[in-house]
Amino acid sequence: MIEATHEVTNQVPDFGDYNLYLSDTVLRAAVQRAGAQGHDEALSHYGERLGRAQTRLWARDANRHPPELESYDARGYRVDRVHFHPHWHQFLRMAFAHGMHCGAWAEPGGGAHAARAASYLLHGQVEAGSLCPITMTAAAIPLLRKEPWFGQVRDRLYSLQYDERDVPLAEKTGMMVGMGLTEKQGGSDLRGTATTAAPVGAAGRGERYLLRGHKWFFSSPTSDAHLVLARHGESLSCFYVPRWTDAGEKNRVEIQRLKDKLGNRSNASAEVEFRDAHGVLVGEEGRGIATLIEMAAHTRLDCVLGSTALLRQALVQALHHARHRRAFGSTLADHALMRCVLLDLAIESEAATVLALRLASAFDGGDNPLQQAYRRILTPAAKFWVCKRTVAAVAECMEVCGGNGYIEDGPMPRLYREAPVNSIWEGSGNIMCLDVLRALKDSPEAAAALLDALARDSAGDPLLKDAAEGLISLLRAGGSGLESAARHVARDLVLLAQAGLLRRHAPQALADIFVRTRFGRAGGVFGLGVPAAAAQGLLERAGVP
Ligand SMILES: Cc1cc2nc3c(=O)[nH]c(=O)nc-3n(C[C@H](O)[C@H](O)[C@H](O)COP(=O)(O)OP(=O)(O)OC[C@H]3O[C@@H](n4cnc5c(N)ncnc54)[C@H](O)[C@@H]3O)c2cc1C
Repeated sequence: MIEATHEVTNQVPDFGDYNLYLSDTVLRAAVQRAGAQGHDEALSHYGERLGRAQTRLWARDANRHPPELESYDARGYRVDRVHFHPHWHQFLRMAFAHGMHCGAWAEPGGGAHAARAASYLLHGQVEAGSLCPITMTAAAIPLLRKEPWFGQVRDRLYSLQYDERDVPLAEKTGMMVGMGLTEKQGGSDLRGTATTAAPVGAAGRGERYLLRGHKWFFSSPTSDAHLVLARHGESLSCFYVPRWTDAGEKNRVEIQRLKDKLGNRSNASAEVEFRDAHGVLVGEEGRGIATLIEMAAHTRLDCVLGSTALLRQALVQALHHARHRRAFGSTLADHALMRCVLLDLAIESEAATVLALRLASAFDGGDNPLQQAYRRILTPAAKFWVCKRTVAAVAECMEVCGGNGYIEDGPMPRLYREAPVNSIWEGSGNIMCLDVLRALKDSPEAAAALLDALARDSAGDPLLKDAAEGLISLLRAGGSGLESAARHVARDLVLLAQAGLLRRHAPQALADIFVRTRFGRAGGVFGLGVPAAAAQGLLERAGVP
């Protein structure tokens, strides 16, 4: 027997099983406020399943063994198949069974969007890659519902049974839809789209076309259909491009290769060629960008949710580590300076969570101008701000975990690699900020309602009042300088909204720290300007197991 040279001590214990939902008091309160309490039991069940140690291992495996492309079969026939790790399918099975891809549309009301958002916040903490096809499918439904032929796909889109088989739709129990916009020459400026669509017979909505060209990013390439932007003549339209044709043959969408990505590795993102692929024109002819932008309102909300989930899980890991690891005679969490950092991170997570649920509940209905503003103005602003803050916050959480945080044995590297993608896809940061300016201009009634609400919510706090008045005068001044101030505008809209929500729903001491650090001189680094004394009681709110 080999004698041990040392005893292992002062390492942080494993989490074991815990319920992601029941342990998150901030999220649970936000679900109640959004009127989604009818979903509480289902969320608790989902939180329990996702929180099992076994489920975390599945996530690790699905990301360690990324999907592989099989272009040709053994006999040389082109097949364009993608092989995923079995645990990838497990996550999609769970998300489907929970209705994350369709529930808010199939069974609206009762806070359905808010409840879905809460499930997203749970799922995204454990396995983020599988959320990509869930998001795209969910966002495609409101578009497809407007088509006269929706009845042909309705039951499969609303099915809770995930069907991983790569067979014609007629043989399947469930389906997924992806989206293809980005080409080699540009993803933000879609006016340069080069893929062409030629009508097979008559042209127009619901008619058949043949698509020729490529997409440079085409995630979930084996989905049962993609919504694709293509050009015919001078105009761009949106096309429903199925994986299999009605004749039961594989559509001519060739997968060139799969991207070797920084993160999001469980999910497949491909480069594809359309070689006269069959497509059906969706939405108004010539209004392809507008049609797909409608879809983007939903996918952008999901980017906010995805980042909020990553931030929450990174915080959970950091708090767990700091409460168990000892240095200089006490746990890390007992050191005043560490408490400042942890509390600041917890506040960032709470601010992201309350805003995410507030945004989601705006999708649950109510066509008053303020609800519209949350959907149309604050959603892109939050996509910019929350996704960007999450990158920095996850890095800080990793640092709390010290050297172990940097090592692939634990979850932090995956959370860290995953964080930037929500900022990039579905419109990168600058594009979001420019979209916020456009939305403020194009929806004056919604903009006025939002600015009024933010000004009202800022009453009684000089820092907030100054920020709100500064923003309003910046927007009033308008002019050509506004474009270069777009990040400023988007950031302040989000911070003012978050401050208002925290002042209403969190302890005053916490809201005060948020305001002082985000609108004062803290400078954006976590832990600056936070009083350690406040941390003791407030950190309990993070509710980590
Ligand atoms: C993992 C992954 C999966 C993806 N999956 C899909 C998919 O399934 N379908 C799909 O269609 N796309 C997909 N994308 C593509 C993604 O949506 C685009 O990469 C993104 O929209 C940016 O487009 P781009 O890469 O062409 O960058 P560009 O358009 O070249 O932009 C580069 C940078 O310039 C900035 N910028 C652009 N214009 C301006 C301006 N006027 N002023 C100031 N700044 C500006 C942008 O904000 C960005 O930061 C995926 C991307 C990734 C990373």
